[in-house]
Amino acid sequence: MLYQRSSSLFAAAEQVIPGGVNSPVRAFKGVGGTPIFVERAKGAYLYDVDGNRLIDYINSWGPMILGHAYEPVVDAVISKAKLGTSFGMPTEIETQIASLALSMIPNADKIRFVNSGTEACMSAIRLARGFTGRAKIVKFAGCYHGHSDSFLIQAGSGAITFGTPNSPGVTQGTAQDTLLADFNDLDSVKKLFEANPNQIAAIIVEPVAGNMGCVPPLAGFLEGLRAICTAHNSLLIFDEVMTGFRLAAGGVQELYNIKADITCFGKVIGGGLPVGAFAARNEIMNFLAPVGPVYQAGTLSGNPLAMAAGLAMLTAISSDKTLFARLDEKTAYLEVGIRNVLNKYTLPFTINRVGSMISVHFSEQPVIDFATAKAGDNETFKKFFHGLLNEGVYIAPSAYETWFITDALTYEDLDFTISAIDRVVATL
Ligand code: PMP
Repeated sequence: MLYQRSSSLFAAAEQVIPGGVNSPVRAFKGVGGTPIFVERAKGAYLYDVDGNRLIDYINSWGPMILGHAYEPVVDAVISKAKLGTSFGMPTEIETQIASLALSMIPNADKIRFVNSGTEACMSAIRLARGFTGRAKIVKFAGCYHGHSDSFLIQAGSGAITFGTPNSPGVTQGTAQDTLLADFNDLDSVKKLFEANPNQIAAIIVEPVAGNMGCVPPLAGFLEGLRAICTAHNSLLIFDEVMTGFRLAAGGVQELYNIKADITCFGKVIGGGLPVGAFAARNEIMNFLAPVGPVYQAGTLSGNPLAMAAGLAMLTAISSDKTLFARLDEKTAYLEVGIRNVLNKYTLPFTINRVGSMISVHFSEQPVIDFATAKAGDNETFKKFFHGLLNEGVYIAPSAYETWFITDALTYEDLDFTISAIDRVVATL
């Protein structure tokens, strides 16, 4: 496949946009080469500016669970746009989407809409701090909760020391309130609670991690976090930006029957428009302004176009009783297909999957946390990525990302993908 026009558009973009992109992972840094510029997309396919058709396994990093340009969403946005695009005043549709979302989300009485997953998580920890009167939070290495300062933290020197900034611009002062634990390791969490008595406002976790590839929680891990939070009067925050409305209508809370205190959303809830949200019980949400003292706001929050897209998406999801079973079956089919292909070769591999989130790691050992995710062979992944791209199959340009399966994929698409993987792996 040729990518001449993508290359020249990227060169032009680099002149006026840092690195040519408005979000770093798009730049192909992890895999090398030139990012693909999209012209349009429909269903399971991307059409790029060079006339190539790609089967899409990223789906805008999750939102397009029903496929690109899903008609009810597109129609809802078009008709809303004609009525005005933003008012900064209340609109009825905000109550409609809030009611529908709350009917799907377990354990929440109220929901506040924001503009991104980053904002949702940032606001959730401020709310948790305000509610508990405590400063520190626990996050897990390898989990991503957006780019707000408190989350751009890496592990410090010892397991029970506080974190250090992993980006210039994040202050040491901020870093000292973020404690780092290891995913799937309850002992690492317990140690932090012992070393910081009555200081931890919340644990924030991707309950099925998706930002180090897909890493499922081991049996008892989420239950253990719930028990620790309850015992220490800390809040459990589920970052369901990836998993919400994807792994089940009620996300991981429903899938594994575990109650979080605050739940964060993004991606699917906006149907492809910029939307995030966070939800909790009344006693917590009533701490938010204008009812309570914790400030949180947004000029475009609850924007009518975004709400129209989100409402159409959630309506489609909530009325389709077999969607999640279908997604699970399709992704299971893909998993088995890839497994059968890779078993023919000597390449070490691990496939992780929960529902419609799946990732292939070129690694011998099980991938259960950030350390084991990082142990995967990145050189093999790069060749795998470019080989698939050449076959017209678009997976995330990084070894540490989940593939997001869309319902628009047909079994023919899946068979094509599996045979493409066979052809690519044969050359590795
Ligand atoms: N949390 C999780 C689990 C995410 O995957 C992401 C984005 N990939 C975010 C938060 C941040 O969302 P956004 O990019 O919309 O700010």
